[in-house]
Amino acid sequence: MVTRWSSKPEMIPDSQEVDVSLAVDKLDDQEAWRKAAARRLKISPSRIASVSLLKKSIDARKAPVRFRLRLLVGIGAPVPQEEPRCPVIPEVSSQARRIVIVGCGPAGMFAALRCLQLGLCPVILERGKDVSARRFDLAPILREGRVLEDSNYCFGEGGAGTFSDGKLYTRATKRGPVRDIYEMLVAHGAAAEILTDAHPHIGSNLLPNVVKALRATILESGGEVHFESRVEGLLLSGKGSRISGVVTADGREFQGAGVILATGHSARDIHRLLLSHGVALEQKSFAMGVRIEHPQPLIDSIQYHYDHGVKRPRALPAARYRLATTVKGRSVHSFCMCPGGFIVPCATSNDELVVNGMSLSRRDSPFANSGLVVGIEPRDTESWQAEHGVLAGMALQATIEQAAKEAGGGGQVAPAQRLLDFLEGGLSDDLPETSYFPGVRPASLADLLPDFISHRLREGLMRFGKAMPGYLNGEALLVGFETRSSSPVRIPRSPDSFQHPGVIGLFPCGEGAGYAGGIVSAALDGRRCAEAVAESLLSA
Ligand SMILES: Cc1cc2nc3c(=O)[nH]c(=O)nc-3n(C[C@H](O)[C@H](O)[C@H](O)COP(=O)(O)OP(=O)(O)OC[C@H]3O[C@@H](n4cnc5c(N)ncnc54)[C@H](O)[C@@H]3O)c2cc1C
Repeated sequence: MVTRWSSKPEMIPDSQEVDVSLAVDKLDDQEAWRKAAARRLKISPSRIASVSLLKKSIDARKAPVRFRLRLLVGIGAPVPQEEPRCPVIPEVSSQARRIVIVGCGPAGMFAALRCLQLGLCPVILERGKDVSARRFDLAPILREGRVLEDSNYCFGEGGAGTFSDGKLYTRATKRGPVRDIYEMLVAHGAAAEILTDAHPHIGSNLLPNVVKALRATILESGGEVHFESRVEGLLLSGKGSRISGVVTADGREFQGAGVILATGHSARDIHRLLLSHGVALEQKSFAMGVRIEHPQPLIDSIQYHYDHGVKRPRALPAARYRLATTVKGRSVHSFCMCPGGFIVPCATSNDELVVNGMSLSRRDSPFANSGLVVGIEPRDTESWQAEHGVLAGMALQATIEQAAKEAGGGGQVAPAQRLLDFLEGGLSDDLPETSYFPGVRPASLADLLPDFISHRLREGLMRFGKAMPGYLNGEALLVGFETRSSSPVRIPRSPDSFQHPGVIGLFPCGEGAGYAGGIVSAALDGRRCAEAVAESLLSA
């Protein structure tokens, strides 16, 4: 409990933070908040002049499910609610140093915004289209199974985070000011609830407008954003030890005082380009597995402790879950769980199939899906290392993605298996309904995965069935494969200067470089890289 004391001689606190627990139907009842706070403070409700919400979470550990609220309580006199700060993005001067940012995902966009705050002029180069045009490019992959290789669920304005679940929860709180990221999003159209929800979420229907508004701010403040500008070359000097800019596929050169490389985990061409110039890369641990889908009402009944078939109270959101265990030295865990969501095709080229999950802000689809992935260490990819060296993990990803494509039998139809059949090793005669629009086809998923993944998945699932009774259900479906949960490659950087140890001026950034895993951590990394660029210019 945090207490603010008044200056009155009797030392009566005039504001306090208190945690209260409320029945589900009392969430919107401010009188109930007041009474609960008064009980907690052991004072009369009449002394409470104001209550405002600081944090909201759901306590579903046991029945009945309750809301937990952290309230700021004004005692005797009202305490004004803290308004979200509106971040200031100043206009840069025409003399400002230009910083090239490759990639317009969360890392690239937040790097650009921070550059502007630091008096630098960001120049973003993005291979995909602006978010409005990009939206139309999702139709061919969904309806015809045809991947537009520069404009899809991973590539285009806003990056992989645009048509995503839009979960903003992060554990990367030590990497920077998470609230600043949320406030920037709220200032650009996200709902203010993301400031108080313990598990904030935006949703794919609202994210594009937020992304558009962020771009408008960058442009209005003097930055540049170039779409359909795929970077294919590097301007290197000093035998490759210094970078001064990049070259796009159509031959345009962009020079800058620093290059922030924020191209995401699917830009395999960028990793190859770096290697071709002798820029050192490292293998890193990553994770791969399947998407698992259940009927959402089943997950609701398990998580909220009521009988299957009973309707979820309106005040409660579609239930989420998080599962993790360790099997034979490797983590097996749920990843990017999307309550009330959809499984979507996330391939970036036509010879592969990749799945991931997204949702709309209301999270009201009848399905709950989640990645279920197994941790992979560089030594697990030994058989790919002889041929692919440091890109062995990437080669393993591609092998599985191509096997999935073939097993699906065409377009973006995905191989799939009932969960119980996967556990018992039998092919599914038929498959349950799914949210995956391009369709699914029965396949033995274990035959398409290396044993070190499928065995651990099986064992992990058995344990999850015990931890969450009902999870191993006849209606649960596994869809292949979730291969891009993280990057198998790290572009090294000095922990102090954030520059590549072998290339002055190159700032590897975000998820593709191995420094983030999610929208908010990528945004935080973008900020940090912009700050590192500014520092490097001061000390130059
Ligand atoms: C379907 C889906 C759902 C997801 N859901 C969530 C979620 O709910 N919550 C969450 O936190 N995370 C989610 N993620 C992960 C999240 O989107 C990423 O962690 C995050 O976007 C990484 O940010 P980034 O800026 O590092 O890279 P990206 O977002 O991948 O952005 C990289 C950008 O670089 C561009 N680019 C690549 N190569 C080049 C090139 N050669 N030249 C120019 N531009 C290039 C790409 O087009 C892309 O726009 C989801 C991902 C997917 C695919």
